[in-house]
Amino acid sequence: MRQKLGQNFLTDINVAQRIADCVNASLSDTVVEIGPGRGILTQRLLEKAGSVIAVEIDKKLSERLKTLPARSKILELVNKDFLDLDLKTFGNVIYASNLPYCAATPIIEKILPTRNWDRAVFMLQKEVAQRICASPDSKEYGYFTIYCGYFASAETLFDVGPSAFRPAPKVSSSVVRFANKKVPGPDPAFFPFIKACFSQRRKNMLNAVSRASLLSKPDIANVLKSIGIDTDLRPENISFEQYRDIFDKIYGHLHAK
Ligand code: SAM
Repeated sequence: MRQKLGQNFLTDINVAQRIADCVNASLSDTVVEIGPGRGILTQRLLEKAGSVIAVEIDKKLSERLKTLPARSKILELVNKDFLDLDLKTFGNVIYASNLPYCAATPIIEKILPTRNWDRAVFMLQKEVAQRICASPDSKEYGYFTIYCGYFASAETLFDVGPSAFRPAPKVSSSVVRFANKKVPGPDPAFFPFIKACFSQRRKNMLNAVSRASLLSKPDIANVLKSIGIDTDLRPENISFEQYRDIFDKIYGHLHAK
């Protein structure tokens, strides 16, 4: 149960305070905390926020949070799987969490496309944080970087070692802040296209795009040339903006046919 739910509890009060400081909530803010666990972060969020909605899947832990001291009237406990919630029912919120590492990616994928959040501060497995905040030309840069970068700007704030948790996880952690770009949703074909390109990481762009689209190789070569992209570059060398341009040109080209 513990392992399945990623129950590595933060025990370092200084780290919990630092995360709450980075959330920087004020009395007019509602903070949604995912997986409050034993409440080490919840307590500190309650000191500053107008209200906290704490979504905990584990019934025992959720019950235990009812005993949290101080300002408990502004704490709403939701004993549910966060992945089952309809996030539109929240008003405009800030998200905060020491995320369960096993569910971090689906939780982020669920939150980012929604419009009713301003910022999110998440503790994550360091490798996942590196993938989110990666720059082109690195091995961490990939589909998830582009996915997150489409909806939000993300920055790593600080790292946390395993000794800050009980039980100590096998991996290091990083705290990442997301700021919502509040952009319209992408063309439904955009992310499948990006995923298909990165599934061909070792191929050059001419071959990767050829596998990811219906266009002929000479047409793809023309598209890449028109954006100033060398066909020999690999998917990891292409910036978010360049992918957007490639996609727009390819789909524009296909629609024009
Ligand atoms: N916030 C606490 C802390 O920092 O000590 C607990 C963090 S622990 C890494 C992750 C918490 O998320 C656990 O309490 C776990 O029960 C809860 N959890 C796991 N999956 C969840 C889900 N899908 N929805 C809501 N809570 C979940």
